[in-house]
Amino acid sequence: MADDADVIVVGGGLAGLVAATEIADAGKRVIVLDQEGEQSLGGQAFWSFGGLFLVDTPEQRRLGIKDSYDLALQDWIGSAGFDRDEDLWPRRWAEAYVAFATGEKRGWLRAMGHRIFPVVGWAERGGYDAMGHGNSVPRFHVSWGTGPGVVEPFERRAREAQASGHLTFKFRHRVDALSITNGTVDGVSGSILEPTNVERGKSSSRNVTGDFTLHAQAVIVASGGIGGNHDLVRQNWPERLGDAPKNMISGVPEHVDGRMIGITEAAGARLINRDRMWHYVEGIKNWSPIWPRHGIRILPGPSSMWFDATGTRLPSPLFPGSDTLGQLQYIMSTGYDYSWFVLTQSIIKKEFALSGSEQNPDLTGKSWLMTAKRATNKGAPAPVEAFKNHGVDFIVRDNLADLVGAMNALSGDNLLKLEYLKAQIEARDREISNPYVKDTQVMNIHNARKYIGDRLIRTAKPHRILDPTHGPLIAVKLNILTRKTLGGFETDLDSRVFGNDGQIIKGLYAAGEAAGFGGGGMHGYRSLEGTFLGGCLFSGRNAGRAAAKAAG
Ligand SMILES: Cc1cc2nc3c(=O)[nH]c(=O)nc-3n(C[C@H](O)[C@H](O)[C@H](O)COP(=O)(O)OP(=O)(O)OC[C@H]3O[C@@H](n4cnc5c(N)ncnc54)[C@H](O)[C@@H]3O)c2cc1C
Repeated sequence: MADDADVIVVGGGLAGLVAATEIADAGKRVIVLDQEGEQSLGGQAFWSFGGLFLVDTPEQRRLGIKDSYDLALQDWIGSAGFDRDEDLWPRRWAEAYVAFATGEKRGWLRAMGHRIFPVVGWAERGGYDAMGHGNSVPRFHVSWGTGPGVVEPFERRAREAQASGHLTFKFRHRVDALSITNGTVDGVSGSILEPTNVERGKSSSRNVTGDFTLHAQAVIVASGGIGGNHDLVRQNWPERLGDAPKNMISGVPEHVDGRMIGITEAAGARLINRDRMWHYVEGIKNWSPIWPRHGIRILPGPSSMWFDATGTRLPSPLFPGSDTLGQLQYIMSTGYDYSWFVLTQSIIKKEFALSGSEQNPDLTGKSWLMTAKRATNKGAPAPVEAFKNHGVDFIVRDNLADLVGAMNALSGDNLLKLEYLKAQIEARDREISNPYVKDTQVMNIHNARKYIGDRLIRTAKPHRILDPTHGPLIAVKLNILTRKTLGGFETDLDSRVFGNDGQIIKGLYAAGEAAGFGGGGMHGYRSLEGTFLGGCLFSGRNAGRAAAKAAG
């Protein structure tokens, strides 16, 4: 039987698009299948903030940041905490990825027209020792144009390949099985779903109107993770993080359903590290939702005070923006699946950013004029103010007694005691008048303000939380928000998938979140942030190049 293409790519997200464009550029024929409609091309990456982990860049150097491969690898290994036999390939991927992020990544993107916002962000700051978790220096490079700015070059290349006949898109084609002949994966079969005109990101129907079978020399699985499927998230929830949360909100569209992971596993592919996931603890319910249970992650600056459901301040160094997994573990140990930020108007206007392309119209729309307003500090960005006014998780009051009363009413648990919260806030406030202090969160604020980027747009001038001139007071109820899958299919550096017998499955490749962004989990337990889009770029590129070469 004649092949329908040289390679089939399952998934038109970033990883699939990168792989497909590499295959087409190598002069091969590729089919890209996606269960969603054409309007959703780009998958999660379109919705992303477009933050990229890059090392020793001109942007960093201009801000006086000294970074290097060795420092970045030290941070990566300290964060990953690799401790399993199956971490062999993930560790190799980690080393190769940090080298990519230090070397080719920026130039490769730049040559395709990608640009970077000049103020480098400092995500996951850790707070342990030099070998522990976190970024020693700012490395989170926001793409000019956010997520769509990352997708753009690859969609353009894909459209060019489509025009030249090298690439065919088949939307509303849902893969239900991989076909294997004599031990080699040589095609896919599945269902054709009814056409849809739902807006990008909204849930589309799963009504079947037909079926299809396609053959090729190889198949690349780039179908994303499991974050939209809360049953799967709960099923894979590790004991070390306590019980799975009863209430979660979704940081990803419903198509991130994990279904293709089970299908690929059923074909013999080895799935490793499925218990490693990257969910956030600063989730707020979207007051204007696009997908079911739609939540947004606050990217917090360092100054908000953080309390658990019972009103106890989170222990050092679990400050905003320090250690996502540590925070998740702590919060789940309290027996409640929510926590609280308490802050001032001065903090919200300088420190709150919301992750997602639609929440950052200035950067997404590539408007220098609008973006410059972040530094002038006249008020919080409009999307943040909108959440403050409409979001169900936000409470704004002039005094602490009213604030705590409203917090108790919102949670319905009545766990917060005014005197207890007041005592902790006043104690912290007494530390503010000196530049040298005992309170580690306040030390952290002073440290952040030594970095010009933070001083400019991310860290409020230290002040007392209970100082009415910085008011009103604000409380935000924080929910657990599902997002990324850190485990995935075990792959070699060519993105070829291993079977359960430890041998490469001929004809089968995996890339992006489905491959744990490479190797089956190159992040280990924790991420340094901005490493997911980059992981799609790197593993998608490797998969595409290797599959094209193997196609002969
Ligand atoms: C709001 C938001 C903000 C983010 N911000 C950042 C950031 O700043 N930096 C960063 O590094 N990362 C960020 N991320 C994460 C990053 O965007 C994703 O991890 C990444 O885009 C995943 O890409 P992917 O190609 O692996 O999968 P996806 O984008 O999920 O694409 C997979 C595609 O496969 C299709 N598919 C699935 N199963 C089938 C099937 N059986 N048949 C056919 N098609 C199928 C799906 O419909 C989908 O289109 C963010 C994510 C979100 C949602």
